[in-house]
Amino acid sequence: MKVLIFLDSTNGKLKNSSLELLSCAATAGATISAVSLGASCPSPADLSAWGVSKLYSGESAPLDKPNPLAYLDALSKVVEKESPEIILASSNTLTRDVFSRLTVRLDAAFASDVTHLQLSPLVAKKPIYSGKCLANIEFTGAGTKILLLRPNQLPIVAANKSVTCEKISIDAAAPTTQLVSVEKSSSAALDLTEANIIVSGGRGLKEADNFKLVHNLAEPIGATVGASRAVVDLGWVPHSMQVGQTGKTVAPSLYIAAAISGAIQHLAGMSSSKVIVAINSDEKAPIFQKATYGLVGDVFQIAPALTEEFKTLQK
Ligand code: FAD
Repeated sequence: MKVLIFLDSTNGKLKNSSLELLSCAATAGATISAVSLGASCPSPADLSAWGVSKLYSGESAPLDKPNPLAYLDALSKVVEKESPEIILASSNTLTRDVFSRLTVRLDAAFASDVTHLQLSPLVAKKPIYSGKCLANIEFTGAGTKILLLRPNQLPIVAANKSVTCEKISIDAAAPTTQLVSVEKSSSAALDLTEANIIVSGGRGLKEADNFKLVHNLAEPIGATVGASRAVVDLGWVPHSMQVGQTGKTVAPSLYIAAAISGAIQHLAGMSSSKVIVAINSDEKAPIFQKATYGLVGDVFQIAPALTEEFKTLQK
């Protein structure tokens, strides 16, 4: 089984979401090749430990910055050389754009937002209807299958075979659109989609200034801060912090929802979190139907008390 993995890395260090994909392919005994596009390319030595025999790398313009058209061109060239049966990438805004285009170009089968994956035989599961159902997906045709996985879903297991990894440079035709600038988030915390712990705040916090309770709660446990759309629409926090159907999809080990009702559109973005803790004064709030632990009470009392407990644990 030939698997091609689209890698995601920061300063040459592979993100956990990519390690999940490498683990899955290595455990299934696949012949693995990988693609890294952008200036941050991991070293072939790091990849050989994961059983990757070929690393296609596009580091110079127009591939140095995210560009769906340039990435599509480069990926098409790699697919032509490798003819993979399965292509894996983690599911995010960029990959959903690039790989849906690639799917059309290759006339391939496609599934995004996959939460469970078995490579041999290939079976995937993904939430549908805003997370109300899980769809089992089987692939019957002979063509290429492209699957985008939600981060934090698969175990990271070090591969037990090491191979020589050959690095091959790739290029792309100049695209018709260009990335003009990138505004970096001021937050030093991990991006929501990568975070292992998330604390999110909702409209029950009453006003923008009270959102600091959420930051205070997050700080001692090293959590990334998220928010409901109501809070984003009120202008308390930027859209980059929104969790849900029209925000980010997250699956951390721990998700704390503070004064969030748990509307279906919010649940769609966080219900696959491993442990969910809800703080809400309304015992009938829908969030409690998904919560592992529910704290019924006033967020203005519970959040500061929890923050103090977390600080004690830190000592
Ligand atoms: P509310 O629904 O107002 O809930 C506030 C909660 O705080 C209540 O449950 C209340 O009991 C509780 N509360 C009040 N005071 C206290 C207190 N003192 N202590 C403890 N608890 C208290 N929403 C998202 O979050 N993400 C999305 O991506 C998203 N996409 C959407 C897409 C579409 C097409 C639509 C139509 C809606 C979308 N929404 C999304 C909006 C969603 O429907 C809800 O309106 C929103 O999630 C509500 O946010 P909230 O829970 O913060 O606010």
